[in-house]
Amino acid sequence: MASHHSTSCPVVTPCAACKILRRKCADSCTFAPHFPPDEPSKFIMAHRVFGASNIMKFIQELPESQRADAVSSMVYEANARIRDPVYGSAGAIFQLQNQVNELQAQLAKAQAEVFNIQSQHAALFCIETGRSFQTSSQQSFDGFITSSDESFESSDPSLYIDQDSLWDTIWA
Ligand SMILES: [Zn+2]
Repeated sequence: MASHHSTSCPVVTPCAACKILRRKCADSCTFAPHFPPDEPSKFIMAHRVFGASNIMKFIQELPESQRADAVSSMVYEANARIRDPVYGSAGAIFQLQNQVNELQAQLAKAQAEVFNIQSQHAALFCIETGRSFQTSSQQSFDGFITSSDESFESSDPSLYIDQDSLWDTIWA
C-alpha cells in the first residue's frame, strides 16, 4: 500500500471517521485531527446523531481554533441524545437547573436562619447592656422577610426566642 511514496509518507492508520466510512484518509482529512483511530466510539456516536456530512459541514464552517470544542460538544450532545432520546442534552440542563433552584432555596433558608439567630443575639445583647435595639436592624430584617418569599416563614419556629413577651418587647 502506497509503496511509491513510502520514504516521505509512511503508511498511516486512517482516522476513526474514514475507517468507519470506509474511505481513504487523505493528509488533509478534516476529520483526522478530531477523530483519532483509537477512539472510534466518538465518531460512531456523532455520526449516528448528526451524520458524517453534517459533522463535516459544521467543522469546515468554523475556524481551526474552535473546531476541537465544536467536535467535543457534538460528541457530548450525541451521547446525551442516544442516552435520552426524548430530552437529549436539554435533559441534563433541566436537571442541573432544578438542582441549582433547590440549592438556592436551601441557601436562602439557611441565610434566613443565620439572620434570625444573629438578630436574637443582637436583641439579647441590647437587653443585657440596656441599649435600645437599633431600628436599622428592624428595617433590614423586614426587607429580608419580603425579599426571601416563603423561606423565612417555613424556617424552624424553635429558632425564635422562647419567651413570647420578651420577643414582643423587642420587635414591637
Ligand atoms: Zn480521515
